[in-house]
Amino acid sequence: MRYQSQRIAQIPPYMFAEFNKKKRMMQEAGVDVIDLGIGDPDLPTPQHITDKLAEELAYPENFKYPSFIGCLDFRKAVAEFYKREFNVDVDPETEVLALIGSKEGLAHLVPTVIDPGEVVLAPDPGYPPYRMAISLAGGQLYTMPLLQEYNFEPQFQNIPETIANQAKLMFLNYPGNPTAATVDTNFFRQAVAFAEKHQIVIAHDAAYNMVTFGDYRAPSILQVDGAKKVAVEFGSLSKTYSMTGWRIGYVVGNKEVIKALSIYKSNTDTGQFTPIQKAAAYALTGSQGCVKANNEVYAERMKSMTTALKAIGVKTEETRGTFFIWAPVPDGYTSAEFANRVLEKTGVIITPGDAFGTHGEGYFRLSLSVPTDRLTEAIHRMKKELTIITN
Ligand SMILES: *Cc1c(COP(=O)(O)O)cnc(C)c1O
Repeated sequence: MRYQSQRIAQIPPYMFAEFNKKKRMMQEAGVDVIDLGIGDPDLPTPQHITDKLAEELAYPENFKYPSFIGCLDFRKAVAEFYKREFNVDVDPETEVLALIGSKEGLAHLVPTVIDPGEVVLAPDPGYPPYRMAISLAGGQLYTMPLLQEYNFEPQFQNIPETIANQAKLMFLNYPGNPTAATVDTNFFRQAVAFAEKHQIVIAHDAAYNMVTFGDYRAPSILQVDGAKKVAVEFGSLSKTYSMTGWRIGYVVGNKEVIKALSIYKSNTDTGQFTPIQKAAAYALTGSQGCVKANNEVYAERMKSMTTALKAIGVKTEETRGTFFIWAPVPDGYTSAEFANRVLEKTGVIITPGDAFGTHGEGYFRLSLSVPTDRLTEAIHRMKKELTIITN
């Protein structure tokens, strides 16, 4: 009797399993562990959004099966958001699709666009679900190294012509997880030109499009002329409005891809609960004061953590987006060795960079989505226990 397919069997063990075990052991030994490994906002969903959810629960018609493409209110809200934030027009009828969180859509996009054996380009280091979805769909992964010397942007000219011509799909992600790299429209222009030349669908993951600091505004790939011919962009309410548990996101852009994805989805799910879609529509179109306020909190934390890391000899600079810090580990350590040392010396969990791909080796990721007082405590312990690293 066989209980799992080859595709499931070949999935590597959960990357955080070892770490979680160690975390539990330390907690049992009485250590006050501070987990900077998770990317889940500590700030609560703003109240006007939760109020809207409660209001929508009063209507029994909201309890029926939702429309699997998303209710029109939600799709219109996404279109309004794109017009307001990026001055991009998208048709709520054909160019917007609601998702049960953007991860759902990113994963289902792969078997929607490619057949088994076909090539998919994905960034390394990158958000692990891209690789997993490619593997589950029987695709062939070609990794695009993201190197610091190139601002963590893939170098399209380095992709061999034969690979580029075989590729059917390419993932991009800016502001980036785990690299915290940000780009300007010019990068997206290059990406669109490359995709057009080689007839590749671009899936741009814009989960952090609104988590930006100072004067920086993250562009949409759809701001590039002709982008809709090749690109779709995934957005999420999760990080912008601290709504990770709500499971609501969307994809906008190329209508052929969106139509194909809606066919896949209509056969696998039936959409997100309508009150959640309505509250999400309200989040996108209502007051954005909460976004600004939350970003100010992240920016403050990022500044203090950057200063602290520099003080212990880590080479890092302030970033323009995401709530992550991605920095090289000090000389003489692998990513795993450094993460282990930090955990053992300070009880602080950071993520070793190789968890995000082989080109993540030599780096670590630290998340700022923990309460400020915990972050301050982590900084205090790191400064006290880790200065030896500079010697
Ligand atoms: C958090 C995250 C997502 C997932 O967002 P959901 O909408 O909650 O599924 C997608 N991409 C990246 C890079 C993320 O960090």
